[in-house]
Amino acid sequence: MAAERDLYEILGVSRTASADEIKKAFRKLARKYHPDVNPGNKQAEDRFKEINAAFEVLSDPEKRKLYDELGADALRIGFDPEKARAYRQWRSAQQSGAPQGGFPGFEYGEEFDLGDIFESLFGGVGRARRRGRGPAGAEVSQRAGEDLTLEIEIGLREAVKGGERTIGFRRPGRCERCAGTGVLPGGGRGRTCPTCEGSGQARTSRGPFSFSGTCPTCNGSGKVPNACPKCGGAGTVLEEARITVKVPAGVADGSKIRLAGQGAAGVRGGPPGDLFLVPRIATHPHVRREGHDLYMSLPVTVREALEGGEVRCPTFDGDVTLKIPAGSQSGRKLRLRGLGIPSLKGGPRGDLYVELLIVLPTQLDEAARKAVAELERAYPDDVRAGVRL
Ligand SMILES: [Zn+2]
Ligand SMILES: [Zn+2]
Repeated sequence: MAAERDLYEILGVSRTASADEIKKAFRKLARKYHPDVNPGNKQAEDRFKEINAAFEVLSDPEKRKLYDELGADALRIGFDPEKARAYRQWRSAQQSGAPQGGFPGFEYGEEFDLGDIFESLFGGVGRARRRGRGPAGAEVSQRAGEDLTLEIEIGLREAVKGGERTIGFRRPGRCERCAGTGVLPGGGRGRTCPTCEGSGQARTSRGPFSFSGTCPTCNGSGKVPNACPKCGGAGTVLEEARITVKVPAGVADGSKIRLAGQGAAGVRGGPPGDLFLVPRIATHPHVRREGHDLYMSLPVTVREALEGGEVRCPTFDGDVTLKIPAGSQSGRKLRLRGLGIPSLKGGPRGDLYVELLIVLPTQLDEAARKAVAELERAYPDDVRAGVRL
């Protein structure tokens, strides 16, 4: 943690800087270290990333508040309000019970390295050990599962028509051996707490100070239950999950489909996280999309374009008969109303634009050549007369 730089320091602003000051400082630094300005400069690139990461936190009032309170630990817990709450409870328990031999006026948890405690608080084993040892310990031992995000590639047809698909992925699932508790039923007689070696008191030093207080690992009992051998005390093990999901018609590229409770399992009875599916719509060889509209090219013959007629046109809703107006030039767009992408919000569907592409025969016999020569006479003197740059 010593290696982690203070986010305010990274942006060169004070801790009381206003949102405006932060934005200004960010812009100035981002301009200076932007990769476009420093091509090939790895140091500038790292700095640029660092600046962006700092700004992401400090420009968000919620994240900034958590960062101000928890420091680098806020980054570690991913600004998860649930964890922050657990952390605060843990800390207030420490503050009320710990100060024997503490430094006068010293706030436990404010100054010393919280890394290890966080490991035990959120890493699984430690929290399982704390089971039933005082109100604070019991509270924080429960933990909600993480949210998971999964990108799925879907075809354009599926985006237009919707559908169902089965997805396989790995997620932390509940350890069945210990029923997600991290300790086996009965827990064994327990073993000596590795942090305090059984004394129930732990000393922590930071700089010139040394403090002693109730051991945070065993909450002062000196013993910790044996961890579940299957999950190592985490309460979760990686599992292969397969779920069938409905892809709604009209789903947008990069949108988020939330599947409640399909994320990582919670620990010690905590609720599971959610799974977010992010659809990526694959490019289609013949159809491109623009907003809710679709565009495709449809080959027609010279005669069809000249004389008009009815031709078959495939769409995602099945074949339709398309009326070609006589005298259609190449590139003419015909609109098929309502055959585009549906609106998720229940609005009207987009349209399908069919662009006519006049194709020429690749082989001409004598008669065809004569016909082409005849056709040529039908053009005005200069077909390019109107093209002037
Ligand atoms: Zn201990
Ligand atoms: Zn287990």
